Amino acid sequence: MKKNIILICVLTLFGGFISAQNKGLVANSDSPYSKLQSVGLQDVKWTNGFWKEQFDIETKNTLPFMWKLYHNNSITHAYKNFEIAGGLMKGEFSGPSFHDGDFYKVFEGMAATYAVTKDKNLDAEMDKAIALLEKVQRQDGYIHTPVLIEERWGTLGPEELKKQLGFEKYNMGHLMTAACVHYRATGKTNFLNIAKGVANYLYDFYKKASPDLARNAICPSHYMGIVEMYRTTKDPRYLELANNLINIRGTTNDGTDDNQDRIPFRQQTTAMGHAVRANYLYAGVADLYAETGEQKLLDNLESIWDDVVYRKMYVTGACGSLYDGVSPDGTSYDPTVVQKIHQAYGRPFQLPNATAHNETCANIGNVLWNWRMLQITGDAKYADIMELTLYNSILSGIGLEGQSFFYNNPLNVSEDLPFEQRWGNTRKGYIAISNCCPPNVTRTLAEVNNYAYSLINDGVYVNLYGSNNLNTRLEGGEEVSLEQVSNYPWDGEVTIDVKKIPQEEFSVFLRIPSWANGATLNINGETVNKEIIPGKYLELKRKWNTGDKIGLNFPMLPELIEANPLVEETKNQIVVKRGPLVYCIESIDLPEDVSVNDVSLDLTAGFDPEMITIKNRKILSLNTSAYIDENTNWENKLYRPLKKLKKHIPIKLIPYYSWSNRGDGEMSVWFSY
Ligand SMILES: [Zn+2]
Repeated sequence: MKKNIILICVLTLFGGFISAQNKGLVANSDSPYSKLQSVGLQDVKWTNGFWKEQFDIETKNTLPFMWKLYHNNSITHAYKNFEIAGGLMKGEFSGPSFHDGDFYKVFEGMAATYAVTKDKNLDAEMDKAIALLEKVQRQDGYIHTPVLIEERWGTLGPEELKKQLGFEKYNMGHLMTAACVHYRATGKTNFLNIAKGVANYLYDFYKKASPDLARNAICPSHYMGIVEMYRTTKDPRYLELANNLINIRGTTNDGTDDNQDRIPFRQQTTAMGHAVRANYLYAGVADLYAETGEQKLLDNLESIWDDVVYRKMYVTGACGSLYDGVSPDGTSYDPTVVQKIHQAYGRPFQLPNATAHNETCANIGNVLWNWRMLQITGDAKYADIMELTLYNSILSGIGLEGQSFFYNNPLNVSEDLPFEQRWGNTRKGYIAISNCCPPNVTRTLAEVNNYAYSLINDGVYVNLYGSNNLNTRLEGGEEVSLEQVSNYPWDGEVTIDVKKIPQEEFSVFLRIPSWANGATLNINGETVNKEIIPGKYLELKRKWNTGDKIGLNFPMLPELIEANPLVEETKNQIVVKRGPLVYCIESIDLPEDVSVNDVSLDLTAGFDPEMITIKNRKILSLNTSAYIDENTNWENKLYRPLKKLKKHIPIKLIPYYSWSNRGDGEMSVWFSY
């Protein structure tokens, strides 16, 4: 057992308050195949700028809103389900069968926030919920309210129950993850004890279960959950279980690409099927690799990553292009092998914009997966994808005021499209039937601080930029304290003040984003003559003194991005990107009756940055010029002779994440030119 765990135990024995447990969302200090280690949940505090503003929105608006929502009997019924299952009153289960898991996600957001704010009210609210969960949990550790309500009250009936079973492991997965985060944030073991019961139940269940029964677990959040339980408790049974869960996948004859179990994981080299389930699976397998070092798992993850990033991911980092599709698609002569898939990765380069599904949860899954890959390898390419996804297709999932949400994240909204899709293009406070994304974005935005830095024995990795204080300890107990000041992503100036650092030689690894050409670096005002390579970490190894100052500058120039021409939907079109942010146009910024689809960018115009305010949030817009097509009559026309009737007008672009905050309208990320 490591020193820090002993320290935690001692402090817990004395009922002491745990201030720093050098453990993060992924507690990989002891993971033998993880190159980097997480900093503690409480180690990084946003102090100013972009992420501080977002964290304030989280604590003031999003968390209270979500906590209340999940206690609202008439809207979500989630907390009520627990009360009924716990025997407080008779009643029926109501809501989707993944409601328990969504409540645990909000809980996880509370715990992660508490780690930073130490708000006593959050602690008290969490304890209240845990006391109820203790009543709900069955003796054998099982917890899933639809089943427990049926067992206690018989108000649902076995048929209804059968439908509900699918998400029980998903719910338990989120419980285990939330309990680990709660333990690390508070030092308390009350929720962790419930999670141990769950993990023990799952261990026994999978020991005895047939592959068919074991397969009945969609959306595998429990892979991440069970490995995290192993990391927290060091109970080897949980690692054995995680391995079994991967082994058992794809061993039945009725698996589907929709659930990534048509073939065993070790035969999978491309991304397929439901993108949330896929990304959760990949994140869970990465967790398992960090503990076991099985090379085949890493080889396959890297192959799948190449498939996603080079062929199937949107320019916003979003995943899952299809609402509904089939797999394999168009390649088999035998139609009987073709299966239905939904909200899924499509074929390579199949990336439609208006009909893009891109569930916020899939994009969050992309961050969960890339975070684990970064920790395993220390390769900056994974941090690049994390940053891209966080700033664009995750933040787009939440309104600027933090209380309205998107389930899907399309890259184009065109009013004249003559069909309606399942999920609309208006943000909602509660997404009926499927409110999985809002709690997920709630916990994710409470936890961005934990992604900002990583540690090795004699170094610190700077993964994300933004004003914050880092106060952490290395495995050997030495303190590292840095103060970062930056207005990133609005400008690329970053200063890092060394407050406390080991006396011997020590490395500071600075991430140079892949887009950051022409970056400059100085230490204490003196230019550092080192090659600065975009898409890599730059190592500064030296004896540091307290008061040393690192100065970095990433020129933030708007860049025009094109897609591989194999992406049919974006042929001869471009995206405007500035730093990590993808920009878009909304119809509210165009003359009336002009469609976003009539706009062609004037490439000679240049871009004029202007700070604007939308819903009290500061946003850097880009002013430029465009040509608009004056021949807009497409009635009963699919094709027509080309006529160049173009008018030159000024236009304004805004960051993609901030779209749909000024009413409904059209939007486009891609432009012709
Ligand atoms: Zn979702």
